[in-house]
Amino acid sequence: MPRTVRRAVVTGGAGFLGSHLCEALLDAGVEVVCLDNFVTGGPGNVEHLTGRDGFRSLRCDITDFVHVPGDVDLVLHFASPASPVDYLKLPLETLKVGSTGTWHALGLAKDKGARFLIASTSEVYGDPQVHPQPEDYWGHVNPVGPRGVYDEAKRYAEALTTAYRTTHGVDTAIVRIFNTYGPRMRAADGRAIPTFIRQALAGEPVTVAGDGTQTRSICYVDDLVRGILALAASGHPGPMNIGNPEELSVRRIAEDVIAATGSSSALEFVGRPVDDPQVRRPDTTLASTVLGWKPEVDWAEGLARTVAWFRSQGLG
Ligand code: NAD
Repeated sequence: MPRTVRRAVVTGGAGFLGSHLCEALLDAGVEVVCLDNFVTGGPGNVEHLTGRDGFRSLRCDITDFVHVPGDVDLVLHFASPASPVDYLKLPLETLKVGSTGTWHALGLAKDKGARFLIASTSEVYGDPQVHPQPEDYWGHVNPVGPRGVYDEAKRYAEALTTAYRTTHGVDTAIVRIFNTYGPRMRAADGRAIPTFIRQALAGEPVTVAGDGTQTRSICYVDDLVRGILALAASGHPGPMNIGNPEELSVRRIAEDVIAATGSSSALEFVGRPVDDPQVRRPDTTLASTVLGWKPEVDWAEGLARTVAWFRSQGLG
């Protein structure tokens, strides 16, 4: 059931998405406790929020122990390395935060009687054989490939979340996030859009994996945050896809970045990562039916905002 949220905990709150969620919650008058061990995020992402009424940021590893004094109405569980570069460097930490970290975050929600929402991922669909991907597609994942540490951690976390709902009656929600971009991504996190922007602004070759015909559907961060908060407020259990159904080839994304930055960089074609999905596109029928949600920021606008932010950080 929808409930009034006065105080929320955001795990991974100092990351890219977590920091935008903390800010949107504060803007909506909700007190926020941000928990993060800064392994892939950093205090700089929430520096502008410190000093705002109702905001607290605590350095903690949620795989150790989670203790938050006082009432909590909502737990948004976003802690996890998320870019392939990060989770390939941190395979055991990624499995641990998806498993033990999710146990702890669910335990907190159970203890407080809070609604719980976990950031799952389109990667649970693996290299999909159904296109676009609806929520009832079970996926095509290689558990022992290098990406398995992330994909299977999220699949386990979804199963655990569901078991807490059925066994303990915790009010849970699962969101499957498709590739999202925007300000506060790290230039070196290895994800395509920040990598292309960094390379284009530096006048370096823009490195496209394979022949660049593989597709991605990319969502601007503000649209994603609006969808997540609507799901949190709805009482719906999910899983629910949130992402932009506009599907672009990776080559087109690279070409648009070069144009948007006014760069003279050339494309350079490099090897495809192992198990890199060939296609990616959310079926967002459920989100539009249940939440009335649809993305509003188109790729040209979102890209312009993101490039402007990277420039403001001294890149280019
Ligand atoms: P991010 O790396 O910027 O943020 C993750 C945050 O979690 C970081 O601040 C990191 O320090 C923190 N963290 C990791 N392990 C932790 C631990 N054990 N204890 C406490 N904090 C920990 O990545 P992001 O893009 O903001 O992703 C956030 C969440 O959304 C992740 O769960 C990710 O799987 C999910 N997601 C993101 C995308 C996307 O396109 N950005 C897509 C699908 C799913």
